[in-house]
Amino acid sequence: MKSLSFNDLSGKVCVITGGAGVLGSAMVNAIASVGAKIAIADINKEVADKVASEIAKESGTEVIGIEANVLEKASLEKAKEEINSRLGDIDILINGAGGNSPQATTKVETMTEENMDNLEDTFYGLEMEGFDKVFALNFKGTLLPTMVFTRDMLKNKKGVVLNVSSMNAYKPLTKIPAYSAAKASINNFTEWLAVHLAKVGIRVNAIAPGFFITHQNRFLVMDEKTGNYSARGQKIVDNTPMGKFGEPEDLQGATLFLISDVSKFITGIVIPVDGGYSAFGGV
Ligand code: NAD
Repeated sequence: MKSLSFNDLSGKVCVITGGAGVLGSAMVNAIASVGAKIAIADINKEVADKVASEIAKESGTEVIGIEANVLEKASLEKAKEEINSRLGDIDILINGAGGNSPQATTKVETMTEENMDNLEDTFYGLEMEGFDKVFALNFKGTLLPTMVFTRDMLKNKKGVVLNVSSMNAYKPLTKIPAYSAAKASINNFTEWLAVHLAKVGIRVNAIAPGFFITHQNRFLVMDEKTGNYSARGQKIVDNTPMGKFGEPEDLQGATLFLISDVSKFITGIVIPVDGGYSAFGGV
């Protein structure tokens, strides 16, 4: 009997946008551990290079940092050329770049009779510039890299795309409407593209991480002064049946599963990795 493994990933070329980030680098670690070659395509070349050289050293596999802006097609095309010449044809794309920003965050959770006179703290005070930036980073920042980095997969009639969604795609959290809408669009796009590409050998799936403390949300879930959870951070833990935030390593199993041939009949799905958050009705 053939035993199952992730051996099919050995020698494959994987590009991960935002791979220098907290969750992205945990995914890079997992993919390097099974012998795939990895290009960390990130706007922050310095950190990308640092993460790449550390993981390359530890794993003994080829990991390189590449400068790329997921919002600029020309930058992605330049990155692709470099990846092709240094690592070969691209087999796997992980769209990891994304995040929220204080500029697209309302100050209050909901409007009440007490705060409704301070419109700038509510939905009505959101600046379009901040809103557009967050929406674009999370949606267009997945669309454009997919257009550019899946060309070799088309040629080879085989490949995998893994998008990164969020719990906000299912039920939006208060305060962050641009991020929530953009992540909902990621779930929708994952299904759309999975159908569009199913007959040419390219699978498209997503993971939806629950709550992990990282740069983009620390200001919302931690109380800077005390170092304890903020009221919002505590609410998240209370609504996570496992009673804690996730560790970046918790994403590794679902990532390897979805990018490897082990899941070769799976396309168009989103796997929550959330300690039970999405299953819980709050009571
Ligand atoms: P992070 O901020 O640590 O990493 C994001 C990375 O993306 C950084 O390395 C950054 O330099 C890069 N980046 C930003 N803009 C870019 C651009 N225009 N082009 C290329 N690279 C760019 O964030 P993270 O928490 O590791 O999040 C990774 C993904 O997981 C994001 O899509 C995020 O929305 C999603 N997510 C995070 C959580 C969480 O709890 N942290 C939960 C659900 C989903």
